[in-house]
Amino acid sequence: MNSVDQLFASDVFNDDVMQQRLPRDTYRLLKKTIDQGKRLDPQVASVVAHAMKEWAIDKGVTHYTHWFQPMTGVTAEKHDAFLTPVDQGKVIQSFSGKELVRGESDASSFPSGGLRSTFEARGYTAWDPTSYAFIKDHVLCIPTAFCSWGGEALDKKTPLLRSMEALSRQAVRVLKLFSRDASRVLPTVGPEQEYFLVDREMYLKRTDLIFTGRTLFGAKPPKGQELDDHYYGAIKPRVQAFMRDLNDELWKLGVLAKTEHNEVAPSQHELAPVFNVVNVAADHNQLTMEIMKKVAEEHGLVCLLAEKPFEGLNGSGKHNNWSMMTDTGYNLLEPGNSPYDSAQFLLFLCAVLRAVDDYQDLLRVSVSSAGNDHRLGANEAPPAIISIFLGTELTDILQAIESGTPYEGHGNEEMTVGVHALPKFPRDNTDRNRTSPFAFTGNKFEFRSLGSSASISDCNTVLNTIVAESLSIYADELEGAKDFQAALHDLIVREIKEHKRIIFNGNGYSQAWVEEARQRGLHNLPSTVDALPSLLDEKNIRLYEKHKIFSSAELHARYEIELEAYNKVLHIEADTMLTMARREIMPSVMRFAGSLAEGAGKIKAYAPSLTCTPQEKLLKKVTELLQEMDSAVDTLQQLISHVPASTVLEQSRYLHDQVIPAMSAVRAPADRLEEICDRSAWPFPTYADLLFDA
Ligand code: ADP
Ligand code: MG
Repeated sequence: MNSVDQLFASDVFNDDVMQQRLPRDTYRLLKKTIDQGKRLDPQVASVVAHAMKEWAIDKGVTHYTHWFQPMTGVTAEKHDAFLTPVDQGKVIQSFSGKELVRGESDASSFPSGGLRSTFEARGYTAWDPTSYAFIKDHVLCIPTAFCSWGGEALDKKTPLLRSMEALSRQAVRVLKLFSRDASRVLPTVGPEQEYFLVDREMYLKRTDLIFTGRTLFGAKPPKGQELDDHYYGAIKPRVQAFMRDLNDELWKLGVLAKTEHNEVAPSQHELAPVFNVVNVAADHNQLTMEIMKKVAEEHGLVCLLAEKPFEGLNGSGKHNNWSMMTDTGYNLLEPGNSPYDSAQFLLFLCAVLRAVDDYQDLLRVSVSSAGNDHRLGANEAPPAIISIFLGTELTDILQAIESGTPYEGHGNEEMTVGVHALPKFPRDNTDRNRTSPFAFTGNKFEFRSLGSSASISDCNTVLNTIVAESLSIYADELEGAKDFQAALHDLIVREIKEHKRIIFNGNGYSQAWVEEARQRGLHNLPSTVDALPSLLDEKNIRLYEKHKIFSSAELHARYEIELEAYNKVLHIEADTMLTMARREIMPSVMRFAGSLAEGAGKIKAYAPSLTCTPQEKLLKKVTELLQEMDSAVDTLQQLISHVPASTVLEQSRYLHDQVIPAMSAVRAPADRLEEICDRSAWPFPTYADLLFDA
C-alpha cells in the first residue's frame, strides 16, 4: 500500500468500516448515537463489539484497551487479550458489548486531587463513540472517558465532552432566534504542533533532557536563530524521512496531518492537521505527540515536546484554532454575505468577546504549567495578559456600530446590525499580529498561548464553557424580546461597549501594553502560581456548576493536581540540576583546572624563565566560577531540602520565588565555565552539538 487514499484511516474503525461490517439496523442506531448523542442500547453495543473484534483480528490484533486521558496530560492504556478460556484447555477470542462500553480501572495511581479520599478508589472508563476506535501497535484502542464510581471526572476528556454539550445547547438556542434549523453545534479545532528533534545519541548523554525533557544548562552557541534561516528552510534528509514516516503513521490512524515545516529555532519543526470536532482533535493531538516520539526513535532522533528545551531559543507552543460549526456544516464565525448572516456573526463574535473578557483568568489557567511559564511573556510567545486581536478593520466596524457613526470602509454608511452586511476580511488583514494570545483569523479564533506538551482538552473545555455562558445570557435576553431586530442591535451595541477593553491590536510584547492592560483592568498573571488560585474563584465555580462541567469538588481536585504537578516538576528539575552540577560539571571542571595547574607547573619546571600568564588567567577565572557554582549549589540544596510543610499553594509559591532563582544562580557560572573550558573537558554535548547535528 502506498497511495494515501488507501493508507488513510486504514487502522480506524470508521464510518466506511461500520457500513461494511455492521448489520444495517445496528449501523443506523450507532450512527444516531454518534451524530445525536443518543444512548446506545446494550444489545447494539454487543453487535458493534463483535464486529470491531472481527475487524481487528483480521488485522492481526490480539488485545484491546480502553484508551483514556488521565490528569497526567498523557494517555493511558492497559491491554487485555480477547482470549477467553473455554472447555478442555481451549480458548476463544471474545469481546463483549459490556467490555466495549465500560471498563473498570484502578484509579488509585492516577492523580485524583483528593477525590479519591472522598470517593471510591476505583474508576471506570466509558466509551466515547464519537471518536472512532483505532489500532495502534496491534492493540484495538477504544477512546474513552475516565470517571470515578461517583461520576466525578478523573480525566481531561469528560469535562471536554460536557462542555461540548453545554456549548451546543446554548448555541442552538441562539440559532433558533435566527430561524436556523441546526440541531447541534460542534466546536472545531485545528491544533498546530511545534516540536524539536535532536540526535538520540546526544540526548542520551544529557541527564537533564532524559529526566526533565529540557536543558537545565547550556551556553548560547555562536549561532542560534538570529539569521532566521531555519524558518521554512529546506528540510534536512533525516528530518524529511522522519516526517514521511510520521505522516504515514498518522494517516493510518485517520489523523489529518496536513502541513509540515521548519520553525524559527534550529532543529524546531511544526505539524498542523486539518481541523476536526474538538474531542476528536484532542484525541488526535495526543496520538500525534505519542507517534512523533515513537517515529523519532526509529530515526535515531528524540522528539522534544517541552515548552522551552533551550534557553535563548524560541520554545515550542501549540496554536489552538477554534470555531463553532453547525451539524449542517456552517461555520458560525464566518462573517457571511447577507446582512442577516452578518448580524448572526456579530452576535457570536460578541459572545467570544464577552467570554474572553469575563474569563481571562480561566483561559490563563488553562495554559499554565511549569514548562509554559518559561515561554509566556518571554517575547517569543504571547504575553501572560489575555487579550483579543481583531484587526483594525473589524475593530473599526465594531466601533462604528457601538457609536452609531458611519463606517468609512463601507461607503460611509452607518452600520446597523441586521441591515448591513459586513465587508470581506482578507486573511492578510487579520493574521499579521503574532504577539496576540487570541487572534481572529478570518473565520476562527487562534488561541496561541498553549504550551507544546499541553493537552488541548483543557483550554477547549474553557472556551466551550465560557462561550456557552455568553450565549445562554444572550438567549435568555433575546428569547423574550418583542422586536428581535431592535433587541439584537441594542444587545450588540451594549456588549461591544462593555467588553471592548479586551480588544488589543497593538504589540503585545511591549512594556507599554503591560501598563495599558493594567489601566484597562485586565488580569496579568505571569506564572502558574499566580494563575491557578483563580480556578477556585466563586464566579468560576458558579460558571462551571451552572453548565455542569465541574462540581466544586472536581474543581478543587483539579486545582490540587495542577499545583502538585507544578511542584513535582520543580523538584525533579532542581534535583537533576544538583546531580549534573556535582557529578558531571564540577568534577570535569576540577580536572580541567588541575590539568591547567599541572601544565603550567611542568612548563615552569622545564624553563623557569617562561611565563604562564594565559594558563594562570584561565585558572583564576575557572576557580572563581567553580567557587561561585559551589556556593550556588549549596544554596539550592539547602532550599530544596527545606520546602515548607504547608499548603500545596504555599509550596508552589516557595518553589517559584526561592528555588527558581537559586537554579538560575547555579546555571549562570556553569554556562560561563562551558564557554571557557576546553571542549574535551565538557561532560556532555553542548547546544551546538544538539542543535546543529540532527
Ligand atoms: P496558518 O496560517 O496559521 O497555518 P491555516 O488557515 O492554515 O492558518 O489554519 C491553521 C489551522 O486552523 C489548521 O489546522 C486549520 O485546519 C485550522 N482551521 C481552519 N478553519 C478552521 C475552523 N473553522 N475551525 C477550527 N480550525 C480551523
Ligand atoms: Mg497559526
